Amino acid sequence: MTAMKKIEENLRKEAKRLLEGGEVSVVLAYGRGYDENHPMPFAARTVEDVDSLVFNEYCTFNLARYLPKYPPKTKIAVAVKAADSRAVVQLIQEEKVRREDLVILGIPVTGMKDQKTGEVIDNKTTCNMANPVLYDILLGDEIHGFKGGSPYDVLAELEGMDHDARMAFWKKEFEKCIRCFACRKACPMCYCDPCFMDASRPRWADKSPTPDGHLMYHLTRFYHLAGRCIDCGECSRACPVDIPLYLFHKKLAKECEDMFQQAAGMKIEDKPAMVNYGNQDSDEMLK
Ligand code: SF4
Ligand code: SF4
Repeated sequence: MTAMKKIEENLRKEAKRLLEGGEVSVVLAYGRGYDENHPMPFAARTVEDVDSLVFNEYCTFNLARYLPKYPPKTKIAVAVKAADSRAVVQLIQEEKVRREDLVILGIPVTGMKDQKTGEVIDNKTTCNMANPVLYDILLGDEIHGFKGGSPYDVLAELEGMDHDARMAFWKKEFEKCIRCFACRKACPMCYCDPCFMDASRPRWADKSPTPDGHLMYHLTRFYHLAGRCIDCGECSRACPVDIPLYLFHKKLAKECEDMFQQAAGMKIEDKPAMVNYGNQDSDEMLK
């Protein structure tokens, strides 16, 4: 049996046990899509639903996205890969989710693939970690000795550009934006309600898809995610016009890690970098 099949089998076994025993009222995991390469997020609520659960290399969605939508005290089991587990940790840090409401089903895995391109995403759009940072039940064997390189290696080309070239690069990319907000919808850390883009009093940004409005939306969203983005890559994969949003998020994550010696969502006991002021903190970002 392959490692992915074993994870799928364990996922069904644990989901059935948790739902049957009434330990949780919902299991957030993956279900069948229109073919094997297009599984979908799936909420199993009954033992019968469990037969629809699947896991394979195309189960890239970050299910932490759905956690803040449930009222506190709802008992939820959630299947998480490494980056997804960091989103859960970050949401707990930000008091959007209660640890005691969760049963975290950890998925140790590498070799996940983009549904659109078939490309392996580990060291491109994601944080390139193999094992979840937090779990209650591990659905596969912990992976040892995975050496995928730094998640920031993909920044080399962008970092090699001067200021004008970088600005031109992003302006060209943002021109493609159709302001569908799929990036916002897919992101586990984009839970503001209302989002500043939807506010009308005050009206922060042009709601029609103009170049200036695009810049306002993306730069504000990028900076709102500074120190909070856990590098799952969901925003980039959700984008219908393939804007490489992950490059900007990774660049900010790298800068934050350098400044505050803390990556987002790694430990529950950490405080979010941007809300935890210390006299020793660098003020480089203000210059
Ligand atoms: S900004 Fe993108 S990569 Fe970062 S947490 Fe949100 S969806 Fe994931
Ligand atoms: S998903 Fe892509 S096209 Fe849609 S708003 Fe985000 S960047 Fe723009």
